[in-house]
Amino acid sequence: MSTDKLASDTSFSLSSAPESATSSEAERLVRKQETALGYRIMASWGWGADGSGHITARDPERTDAFWSLRYGVPFGEARVEDLVLVNHCGDVIEGSGEINPAGFCIHAPIHSTRLDVVGAIHTHTPYGTPFSALAAPLPMSSQEAVAFYGRQGVFTGEEVNVTDLATGQRIADALGTGRLVVLANHGLLTVGTSVASAVGFYLNAERAAEVAVKVPDGRVISPAAAAQTHPSVGDELNGWHIFQWLVRSRVGDPTVVN
Ligand SMILES: [Zn+2]
Repeated sequence: MSTDKLASDTSFSLSSAPESATSSEAERLVRKQETALGYRIMASWGWGADGSGHITARDPERTDAFWSLRYGVPFGEARVEDLVLVNHCGDVIEGSGEINPAGFCIHAPIHSTRLDVVGAIHTHTPYGTPFSALAAPLPMSSQEAVAFYGRQGVFTGEEVNVTDLATGQRIADALGTGRLVVLANHGLLTVGTSVASAVGFYLNAERAAEVAVKVPDGRVISPAAAAQTHPSVGDELNGWHIFQWLVRSRVGDPTVVN
């Protein structure tokens, strides 16, 4: 996927899918562009206006390191050049500056534990955070929730500010093999095999949390119905498509991050 492809309305269709990068350098650029765009998508709702929230993207070659936004850059102004590469000791090894320390403590253990994960996102949202105070998984009360059927965990620790890697590892353990972990009294965190799908599914999770908060006693569909629907809404490609929509509807010209 190139930014030219993102920018072209006629190139996006039901059959659109991520293109295989021709080199590690090209793949790195895609991941960095999606990260910067993801921050701008967050900012389009005002999420992270107070600095809370982070997106990380595993580097395609230095797979023990990940890219994230340099601390201090407003999310709505994120560009590729504002990303820094951090290793699993927390050292910035490319770019200059620092990253959100909680972002490092939460995301590093996830990247080292889940080798299939390329992208991860967490922030504090209008419904995800209130929902998380229930310390419970998302109920299957909306289409969006079904994307997480059998793919979510709950971190019930009381560390609402994560300041060490041991706590981050317990969060990674609560995530397990899923794509969503509800951080009790804190917020939501999603992961994906691309940054795009992680961000796309984050929007699904926030929407599902909104339904749960607004209609706490709403009908929950049966496990059989959820299992039947999950493949049609819960594929990584579904998350990637949501991201393409978000770029178009919330950011506009994707080359703004270049
Ligand atoms: Zn947080």
